[in-house]
Amino acid sequence: MFNDLKGKRVLITGSSMGIGLAAAQAFAQCGAKVGLNGRRAPDNLADLLAGMHVHGGEAGFFAADLSRTEECEKLVSEFVARFGGVDVLINNAGGLVARKPLPEIDDAFFDAVMDLNVRSAVMMTKFALPHLKAAAQASGQTSSVIGVGSIAGHTGGGPGASLYGVGKAALHNIQKNWVDYHSQDGVRFNVVSPGTIDTAFHADKSAKVKAGIASGIPLGRLGSAQDCAAAFLFFASHACSGYITGQILDVNGGQFKP
Ligand code: NAD
Repeated sequence: MFNDLKGKRVLITGSSMGIGLAAAQAFAQCGAKVGLNGRRAPDNLADLLAGMHVHGGEAGFFAADLSRTEECEKLVSEFVARFGGVDVLINNAGGLVARKPLPEIDDAFFDAVMDLNVRSAVMMTKFALPHLKAAAQASGQTSSVIGVGSIAGHTGGGPGASLYGVGKAALHNIQKNWVDYHSQDGVRFNVVSPGTIDTAFHADKSAKVKAGIASGIPLGRLGSAQDCAAAFLFFASHACSGYITGQILDVNGGQFKP
């Protein structure tokens, strides 16, 4: 089904664990060349990379703090130096930073949430765009940018997560502009929008709290990082989604229905 992903150069931000790592492993199983990223290398990096070579895939790790524009530029440069171009960019790095209700929000917190969730995706897309365009011209297939939104981008977010929700709503929205003004570059822009996915993101929640959340999800459980992976493969594959752009795919077990 995803045969055309073999050999594709896929850069996934924030992929040292969680949703990004599961996506990276799925791409490697398809024989893609995968760029892993995090602020620092995970302790089990050698094992992760070895596992990703098993199915003919190839992977490298690139440390970069994507809250900072110069680090976004460096990441794209290093990935291109290693793999020769970019076919797929997945803007996955993101997070709450902290939970702060409105009275506790200050300028530093505002900037930190927006830098991690919005600036990173904008700058990564800006620096990758010439490479994505070149890849599309060379292959005759569309390149793909995939944002990672959130159910919070639809609903406004949970306690203390208002700015996170704003940031994710921005990602849901900005791709509409990019579709209008960059489709001629041969690039498609879509968003995978997860619900409650059981990763380190929810490390602050007890098993009881998670069970309570699961009871409100029609499919009866939290999602796993692996539950999200096929959505990324779908949007990356020209064969599967070459005529699909500007869309949000919600992976949430029915938790929210836009
Ligand atoms: P996670 O905390 O398990 O992983 C976050 C990843 O981002 C890690 O690899 C981390 O190293 C990386 N990262 C964090 N800050 C970074 C920075 N400044 N520069 C580079 N990398 C950085 O979280 P996750 O659940 O896998 O979340 C992945 C994405 O999915 C995030 O954008 C998150 O907002 C989104 N999301 C998660 C959920 C959920 O329920 N888990 C729901 C909706 C959306």
